Amino acid sequence: MSLAGKTAVITGGGRGIGAAVAGALAAEGARVLLAARSLGQVEAAARELGQRGFEAHAAACDVTLESSVRELEASARSLLGQVDILVNNAGTASSAPIESTTLDEWNRIMAVNATGPFLCTRAFIGGMAERGWGRVVNVASVTSRVGSRYIAAYTASKHAVLGFTRVAAAEYARAGISVNAVCPGYVDTEMTTESVERVMQRTGLDRERALAAILETVNQKRLISVDEVAFVVASLCAVHAGGINGQAIVIDGGGLLS
Ligand code: NDP
Repeated sequence: MSLAGKTAVITGGGRGIGAAVAGALAAEGARVLLAARSLGQVEAAARELGQRGFEAHAAACDVTLESSVRELEASARSLLGQVDILVNNAGTASSAPIESTTLDEWNRIMAVNATGPFLCTRAFIGGMAERGWGRVVNVASVTSRVGSRYIAAYTASKHAVLGFTRVAAAEYARAGISVNAVCPGYVDTEMTTESVERVMQRTGLDRERALAAILETVNQKRLISVDEVAFVVASLCAVHAGGINGQAIVIDGGGLLS
């Protein structure tokens, strides 16, 4: 197991991609702490990992709040001792044309997807630097790399987190830390179910046709699985992956070819 002896904090670890990442890191030997606003959900996910024989903990955290991230840092210190790996996965999405995007919605999306990774990275990266080893993986999106209609706030937030990834990679390159982003296309999670529901509401299509309309924009005509994303995240955390730094790894079945 390549991560034996390492510890990891995964934000948004209660479901979807975050839960799969927690499982993949635990399977590689890391002791993990799952954080999200819904304590019951992260507790259930941690319990499930515990039943599989892994050490997993849960903590409530809203990544948009400095005080909450500080509490997460304190919980991590008492539960794990130190944090070697941070996966900034917590995220949220919505869609609307620019003219009907409210400032509140813009700020909400930016706070979770861009400010959250900044606050969490700032909380944990100093300890990694002191010990001379660390991994930060930001779960960004293909929308970190391209623009398309009706997702201005989400796209801006995901471009922001990629910019932040590159700066953090540069600042900590000499401290034994790598900071990378993964950029998935549509993944089979609740977030995509909600996207399908938004298409249904806007177009009147039934669920099957709404999903088909989304998949029409996807090269492999399928959703990416959470395990495919978790595999790449865990690979970036491996000891031998230290040379990969400041990168944005696209996981979309070959849609974005640049
Ligand atoms: P889900 O909606 O299934 O899960 C999102 C997770 O983030 C939940 O655990 C949620 O828990 C947590 N979260 C949301 N807001 C906050 C907050 N303020 N503080 C702490 N935790 C929070 O989404 P996915 O698993 O699909 O998405 C995970 C990441 O992957 C996101 O960053 C998303 O943008 C990105 N992504 C997803 C794609 C997809 O197609 N699904 C494609 C590309 C990228 P809670 O609500 O309890 O806080």
